[in-house]
Amino acid sequence: MSIIVNNVTKIYGQQKALDDVSFSVEPGHIVGFLGPNGAGKSTMMKIITCFIPQTSGNVSVCGYDVIENPLEVKKQVGYLPEHNPLYVDMYVKEYLQFVGGIYHVKNIKERVKEMIDMVGLGIEQNKKIGALSKGYRQRVGLAQAIIHDPKVLILDEPTTGLDPNQLEEIRGLIKTIGKEKTIMLSTHIMQEVEAICDKTIIINHGKIVANQTTSSLKDNSSENIVLTVEFDKELNGNALTKIEGVLQAKKKPNEEIWLIEIQQDSVRNNIFQFAIQNKMVVLSINKEKESLENIFKKLTKNL
Ligand code: ADP
Repeated sequence: MSIIVNNVTKIYGQQKALDDVSFSVEPGHIVGFLGPNGAGKSTMMKIITCFIPQTSGNVSVCGYDVIENPLEVKKQVGYLPEHNPLYVDMYVKEYLQFVGGIYHVKNIKERVKEMIDMVGLGIEQNKKIGALSKGYRQRVGLAQAIIHDPKVLILDEPTTGLDPNQLEEIRGLIKTIGKEKTIMLSTHIMQEVEAICDKTIIINHGKIVANQTTSSLKDNSSENIVLTVEFDKELNGNALTKIEGVLQAKKKPNEEIWLIEIQQDSVRNNIFQFAIQNKMVVLSINKEKESLENIFKKLTKNL
């Protein structure tokens, strides 16, 4: 395992930020660490990267314990903290050489050039960091995080504050880097995990509330089934709710498509029967996958 977190609790003064958290991350995976603000995401990431110690429990990265062997852990981990604290008065190349120096990177000029190419900083490489747009600053942040070629990357809200174009570019870059490294990224944006992550861990009030592949999270979470159904004729929604086993029916805005919530698969037969009795044809009937956004809301409310 690349990251193993066992029964970790973190207490700041009176505040319990993490409460008996356990999970592991397999090599080569991109894992989304999802949760509302204040859930404990940054705290967990700071512990994994040896910035702060846990109150109890154990964390290891590539087999090295964060308390017993922090120097080895730091060699294995690249970290892009939240708000990407860069030295705005330094030039891009100067800054990357400086970070490379801290990690004793060999052939530093070559490596900086390689990083600039990899993250697409070419045309901005001679500027001061303070003169870069937020998207390019994130590229510098990613370059500094991978300059020592770590096996594991920890990215704390890497796309917050980016415009839609920058967002797409940085997500693409994370996916590319993720082909060679294990990545754990935190976010409160549901679409982000759908777009990039193999696995999703959801945290709420310091506790893990979900930990599974992103696709299985969507498949298993719904207690009821939502069908999208298209009939050949217009009809009244009240008639649909009278079908045995139908819990709710509403029409998609501006479309002749009905969203019908049912408790079990067999109710589909009743919908076909209803159509026959009313001399209608069912043009299509499909199971709607629940959006990750709804799953997130369900898992993180009232806890
Ligand atoms: P997230 O990254 O999910 O927004 P954080 O890990 O930053 O959450 O915070 C988790 C909880 O711990 C929050 O209630 C926050 O106020 C609290 N917290 C974070 N850092 C500190 C600190 N240095 N001192 C006291 N409380 C903190």
